[in-house]
Amino acid sequence: MKKRYEETIVGIATGFSKGAISIIRLSGDEAIKIANSVFKGKNLEKVESHTVSYGHIIDYKTREPIDEVLVSVFKEPRTYTKENVVEINCHGGVFVTNQIYENLLIAGAKPAEPGEFTKRAFLNGRIDLTKAEAVMDIIDAENKNAVKLANAGLSGKIANTIRSLRQDVVNILAVISVNIDYPEYDDVEELTNTELLPKLIEIKQFIENLLENSKSAKYLKEGINVAIIGKPNVGKSSLLNLLLGESRAIVTDIPGTTRDIIEAKVNINNITLNLLDTAGIRSTTDIVEQIGVEKAKESINKADLVLMVIDTSQVLDSEDLSLYNMVEGKPHILIGNKSDLTKKADLSLYNNEIVYISALKNEGLSNLENKITEVVFGEKGTIQDATYISNARQVAKLNDALNALNEAIAKCYEQEYVDIIDIHIREAYLALGEIIGDGSIDSLIDELFSKFCLGK
Ligand code: GDP
Repeated sequence: MKKRYEETIVGIATGFSKGAISIIRLSGDEAIKIANSVFKGKNLEKVESHTVSYGHIIDYKTREPIDEVLVSVFKEPRTYTKENVVEINCHGGVFVTNQIYENLLIAGAKPAEPGEFTKRAFLNGRIDLTKAEAVMDIIDAENKNAVKLANAGLSGKIANTIRSLRQDVVNILAVISVNIDYPEYDDVEELTNTELLPKLIEIKQFIENLLENSKSAKYLKEGINVAIIGKPNVGKSSLLNLLLGESRAIVTDIPGTTRDIIEAKVNINNITLNLLDTAGIRSTTDIVEQIGVEKAKESINKADLVLMVIDTSQVLDSEDLSLYNMVEGKPHILIGNKSDLTKKADLSLYNNEIVYISALKNEGLSNLENKITEVVFGEKGTIQDATYISNARQVAKLNDALNALNEAIAKCYEQEYVDIIDIHIREAYLALGEIIGDGSIDSLIDELFSKFCLGK
């Protein structure tokens, strides 16, 4: 592939802070030459690729030594960017690192933009977009699961899944092309009903599945928003304290993405729970009466998961029921609190499985934690071997593809002309292409042409 960049870039890979070592990275045609012009040691232009050389960086003009370094030379194309790459390991002082960086600029390199090394890797055709985004996701990862998800992107698993989906879409387009080109197959109704619809529905379901998994992925990365609701005195704040007390809590004012305040974050089995409205729970023991049903509704709406607390030592009343009606249809867990007392509540009214705890006696918490992981990730309670698309841009494109397919399916049912259906299927193809960074219609044309030889 033709290289798109003329300039050689330089960046401080390890960031601008003091550390044991810093790494300064160059990429581009002139990378080795530029590094060599400020290096005293072996001639870097003559060393083997993928080797490390010991020496000193010297001032470009005065030739005074600046630092003792190890320089790695990677010759194109087997490099991160597919260009010549040089990495200089120097001592990790901010001043010395900057001095080396500045000398490389004087020697002819250009400052790299954020992400530019990875961008070059993408534009030079070494990695697809999902891999490029995975690199960023690994850097941003805040927990073990987020790293695991990003690695799935880096390993090419996501790109492979999308490529095979796209192949399925191309196969359908090929069927349509054959039928348009060969009028003997002009029974449109039969074509849509027997050929197109089942295939479109299969792909649509596959995408829906991916989107469902992507929800778990989002939870893993960002945590889930949890509301604790229930009548006054059922034990909400006791439960909250129990959750917070279990040493994993970081209680702080963390502004949420919306105007509400997430007051506490708790880690449970590697899932972060963002506890919503905890201030509301704390400041009053009367959340339903004082703040009102509206407020409870609001909390439920904002939450990904609702923990609804019931006092099992009391007979259930209409208030419990009306709260229960509000959480129905939303992922929720019913918590039967005060299990240390005699049970009076008739819980057969609730068709859900109830987790019994005693917030006072600290009993049943691990059951509750397991239930939370189960609700978030399904029965296995862990991230499974499925494909998890966690990147927001990729999820949006996947939704675009799904919408286009739904259109195509609706048009099939309406017995619309195949060329109209074809348009929507092409849209789906393009949206899928954008996930891996191939949004061009050219690639579709190439694929279609390579697919069948009709002898024309
Ligand atoms: P909230 O109004 O729902 O936040 O309820 P609180 O957490 O303030 O609890 C109300 C009362 O129930 C307090 O006196 C708690 O000590 C008591 N309580 C909470 N959990 C339990 C429990 O598991 N067992 C018993 N016996 N009492 C509890």
